Amino acid sequence: MRRKQMLVERLRCAGYKITPPRLAVLEVISQEGEHLNPNEILGRAQTIRPGLGRATVYRTLEILTQLGIVRPIYVGESGPMYIRAEGGHHHLVCSECGRIIDFDECVAEEMVHDLRERFDFEITSHLLEFYGVCAACRKLQEANEFKSR
Ligand SMILES: [Zn+2]
Ligand SMILES: [Zn+2]
Ligand SMILES: [Zn+2]
Repeated sequence: MRRKQMLVERLRCAGYKITPPRLAVLEVISQEGEHLNPNEILGRAQTIRPGLGRATVYRTLEILTQLGIVRPIYVGESGPMYIRAEGGHHHLVCSECGRIIDFDECVAEEMVHDLRERFDFEITSHLLEFYGVCAACRKLQEANEFKSR
């Protein structure tokens, strides 16, 4: 629960009231690390606090985005998903099925160093995305090609 406490503190320091509905949203966000979709957050937060409204979820996500704790990403047509804004985040995104593969190895360290030197810019986080076609979709494509021959 350390992460939840941290989120509560950040909001409180920024002058936001910690209401029970908001607390339920923070609880869900602190449990789920990555790729939070507002609908899923709503569903889970409602199991903690029935009757919690969609607006509370959106408003809380907006605040967390402003505070630099989460950041929205847009992949495919599924609307925004939220990821942690700190540190590095690395994705392989399939443009056929929208699947996102996360990988932890940072391939950007050298680039971050170079950019800092070149632009005198203090980089605090990054999101790296590579787009392409996943193995399952390629198999499907091959099968379809074979059929149409
Ligand atoms: Zn795919
Ligand atoms: Zn991710
Ligand atoms: Zn990285």
